[in-house]
Amino acid sequence: MEVGPSRTVGAAITLIGVRTRRDVINYALQRRARLAQVRTGLMTAAEACDAHPHLLLAAQNYGSPSPAPCPICRREGVRIVRFIYGDELGQSAGQARSAGEIERMDEAVDAVSVYLVEVCPACSWNHLLESFVIGQGAAQQSAAPRRSRARR
Ligand SMILES: [Zn+2]
Repeated sequence: MEVGPSRTVGAAITLIGVRTRRDVINYALQRRARLAQVRTGLMTAAEACDAHPHLLLAAQNYGSPSPAPCPICRREGVRIVRFIYGDELGQSAGQARSAGEIERMDEAVDAVSVYLVEVCPACSWNHLLESFVIGQGAAQQSAAPRRSRARR
């Protein structure tokens, strides 16, 4: 899927050049709900901006810049950090990876889940943006029609 540069957060995420992205889940609705809670005072900004130090570090080291400012403090410099999960990853599961690393990984794995998290280094706002599965493997094959069996 070819996606051109855009100022929206969603389009920034899809710039990742992975060809087999599947099972995409977008968390924009939950994000809007969280921001509305802060706006209406149901939740304090301090409660919403609770990024763990490890998350801030991962965002700094592996994150890519978001084109959108922070929805809480309005500052630029928001990072999008990608975490990978999957049985075949072994001890690497749960680690952050750069966009380039995930693009290269796409060719080499069967099925790895990628979680994209928005992190603001200035105020510690963080929220899950999107998750999807990359890889060449099993999930796609099982979804294809089983022609050999159908003929019998
Ligand atoms: Zn912020």
